[in-house]
Amino acid sequence: MKDHDRDGAEAPLRQRTRLVHAGVKRSQFQETSEALFLTQGFVYPDAEAAEARFKGEDPGYIYARYGNPTVGMFEERIASLEGAEDAFATASGMAAVNAAMMCMLRAGDHVVAARALFGSCLYIVETLLPRFGVEITLVDGRDLDAWKAAMRPNTKVAFFESPSNPTLEITDIRAVSEIAHAAGARVVIDNVFATPMFQRPLEFGADVVVYSATKYIDGQGRCLGGVVLGSKDYVRGELEPYLKHTGGAMSPFNAWVMLKGMETLALRCDAQAAAAARIAQALQGHAKLARLLYPGLADHPQHALAMAQMTAGGGVISLDVAGGQASAFRFLNALRIIAISNNLGDAKSLVTHPATTTHQRLSEAARETLGITPGLVRISIGLEDPEDLLEDIARALAAA
Ligand SMILES: *Cc1c(COP(=O)(O)O)cnc(C)c1O
Repeated sequence: MKDHDRDGAEAPLRQRTRLVHAGVKRSQFQETSEALFLTQGFVYPDAEAAEARFKGEDPGYIYARYGNPTVGMFEERIASLEGAEDAFATASGMAAVNAAMMCMLRAGDHVVAARALFGSCLYIVETLLPRFGVEITLVDGRDLDAWKAAMRPNTKVAFFESPSNPTLEITDIRAVSEIAHAAGARVVIDNVFATPMFQRPLEFGADVVVYSATKYIDGQGRCLGGVVLGSKDYVRGELEPYLKHTGGAMSPFNAWVMLKGMETLALRCDAQAAAAARIAQALQGHAKLARLLYPGLADHPQHALAMAQMTAGGGVISLDVAGGQASAFRFLNALRIIAISNNLGDAKSLVTHPATTTHQRLSEAARETLGITPGLVRISIGLEDPEDLLEDIARALAAA
């Protein structure tokens, strides 16, 4: 197989082939595995070449804060997977979320966001943006009338996650994109829970997709990373100037780990989603559960919408353990295989109690609005045998 060059001129290969080959650039040694270019800078053959590169007349690399060959391979691979014109990799998922929005906002603009957001995303929208004169409106992401009513002449961005963390609410990407575009706003979606394997928001009208690559893209709990994807005009015209001058670049080492992670992304996501579906089905109607949230289940209130925009329910399930926080804590403490951690998307199954960890900063009323009840636990299903996980959960529910 030939190298897939920058202009993406290869025949349209299928997803799993792209995950392994897209973006590969071989050095003069023709190595099989992607090279790790652990370098901050690049040398120029002469002063004229340096001048040309800074003027943008020569496309070569300048400095790793602007770009690096290993990071470039990762950006190209994920852009190819997502069907995006371009991508810029970042140091973490939060650097991606921050840059994706900050690069297109100024004082006097207005942002509409779904209320059900990852804690740090909520901090950016609710606390940080207003400090710089950006007005914000938070809505129920499931309520299209609320999105419509929130739009104003100065609305520039609509932002949401789908499925959301930790209650797995689904937002209609196509409908919200139409509402936002009619108001002259652009749509930024945090696609971490769906993964690029199960949901490609650009196909539904979203303008910008962000990932925490820390989660499923690494997939083995090693490195932080993020990426922002969108049109070439957006990535090179708005995002790159913001990121290259504010320093949110991904480390080449982390990009190399992410490239290796992507080679197994399809296999891992399929296995994790299949295990999550199996476990959710088996737990349905369990006497110790007040609620079971998994969009892949037919009786999930938004199942039809979830399946219209996702090809699987994903690898996260949330359980509301009957009896509140004390029962939820007994459940967590009784688990033997599933470890207590706030991360997700790892090969190892992880469980979180959002009300006392990731969402403890919120008021009780705010948590209640979001459905983050005292009994709610979020489980990121890993790559263990699903039957062992099910036995672990059943045992811990008995102890709850
Ligand atoms: C983890 C996460 C982030 C933040 O990513 P980091 O890599 O930890 O900075 C943002 N959004 C969602 C939905 C996440 O799960």
